[in-house]
Amino acid sequence: MASDPSTRVTAPHDPRGRLISIFVGAVLLPSLALSYVSIEFVPQLAKANKEMGFRRAANTLADIENDLARAVQAKAMEAAQVVGWERLLDGRQHVIAAALQTAGLDGDVFHTLHLEGASSPLREWKPEAVRPQSPRDILEGLEPTPARTEDAMPWVDAAGKVSGVLRFGFKPAYIRDRLIPDYFAHDFPNPEQAIVVRVAADDGAIVHETAPTRDDTFEVQRALETPSLRGLRLALRYRDLSIEQDVRRWEMGTLALIGFIDLMLGAGLFLVYSNVRREAHLSRLKSDFVANVSHELKTPLALIRLFAETLELGRVPTEDKARQYYRVINKESQRLTQLINNILDFSRIEAGRKEYRFAPTNVGRIVSEVLEAYRFQIEQQGFELTVDVEPGIPDVEADSEALGQALLNLVNNAIKYSRETRSLALAVRGAGDRVLISVTDRGIGVPKAEQRKIFEKFYRGEASLVHETKGSGLGLSLVEHIMEAHGGAVEIESTPGKGSTFTLVIPRTQKNKE
Ligand code: ADP
Repeated sequence: MASDPSTRVTAPHDPRGRLISIFVGAVLLPSLALSYVSIEFVPQLAKANKEMGFRRAANTLADIENDLARAVQAKAMEAAQVVGWERLLDGRQHVIAAALQTAGLDGDVFHTLHLEGASSPLREWKPEAVRPQSPRDILEGLEPTPARTEDAMPWVDAAGKVSGVLRFGFKPAYIRDRLIPDYFAHDFPNPEQAIVVRVAADDGAIVHETAPTRDDTFEVQRALETPSLRGLRLALRYRDLSIEQDVRRWEMGTLALIGFIDLMLGAGLFLVYSNVRREAHLSRLKSDFVANVSHELKTPLALIRLFAETLELGRVPTEDKARQYYRVINKESQRLTQLINNILDFSRIEAGRKEYRFAPTNVGRIVSEVLEAYRFQIEQQGFELTVDVEPGIPDVEADSEALGQALLNLVNNAIKYSRETRSLALAVRGAGDRVLISVTDRGIGVPKAEQRKIFEKFYRGEASLVHETKGSGLGLSLVEHIMEAHGGAVEIESTPGKGSTFTLVIPRTQKNKE
């Protein structure tokens, strides 16, 4: 303690401003910009998603029409192969129907089935292979036009050449009652029935529906163009959510996520800010502490030296004066001891090395010892002292030295923070399985707003009256630590200008300690 501690600690710069600007510049502004861009972008993306959803639904309906067209072609080819090209060329429908029936097929399916221009049997029919090889005029004849009521497909002869056109038309009953229900039952890919398709006639009568639809709201519709399917309309909706709802849900979810991220970011920033603020506050308190402590060490040492030198040189006029000097030396060294004990304890606590030895302790004895240490000061400063120890208080399990240290700090504060009215009352009471030691003064008191803060390390009251008194801001934080180690607490009741009562609450036994 020979060197002045303040020279060893450099006052820290306030890092708050720098950190705040780093966070605002590096985190907050970029993420706000990103949020802004996302909020602009999300509705656009939602619009595009919606359009894509409608396009996909329309494509599904086109695929269904293609599938159905293929199915009618396959059916017609199957029939054509059975009937044979000569009879098809001949074109008489009753002959053809009879041939179909003989082969065990339904003869009542077509209203027309005949061949134009072919002169040889059909090659093995593959639906995908025919078109590219077809001569243009035949291909043109195959294009469905609103005028045609028949379907047409190329007739590829045994040499692989397109030599004619097979024309056919199915009866509506077959299309409605067999082809369409069969297709939706076996060939329509619809995993989990997520899509609902309705086939309806032009007049609105429902031909087929993959699942019932209460209202008539569908996403997309399609009038069928294939001649055999003409007069029918397809309509599609999704089972659970409409495209609009689905997209809105996605949009809301994404915006909510962006909001949530911003919120978390705000909370994070706030946390960092409050931590930095606390650290900055603590470092300011620490530097105050160093200044206070060095002052507190210097003053008593200077007094002790001055009075000791005066006594040594024999320059004391009377015996009374000499006694007074001895008292001053005694009091100041006591103050030094108390301060050094506090600092040592505090550094042990900070390093996690403070140990407590619990043993049965007589609380009354601790009170007498502390009062004994302060008797001189109490008497000299004219304090009115009251001590009230309830008889029959059993021993508590405590670290007597630490408990004495805690009480000493309270008594020391009661004396330090008293002004004109000098009164000190100590009381020991039992309360259930706890023992309470209270120290009451009629000093300056502690404002409500500070009653929690005064237990923080380095904290010293704001009032100017407090600053007239020397202190390190460690005493009460030590008291609180000691009481917590005992499984107890320190409580305060205080009115500014009237006085304070600090109470140590000590459990009789240390249940949680080994
Ligand atoms: P110090 O007394 O060294 O400042 P403490 O931790 O013992 O540190 O006390 C912290 C603060 O609590 C004091 O600065 C003072 O404002 C307030 N305080 C403590 N005891 C009393 C008391 N008996 N009366 C009024 N104020 C008190």
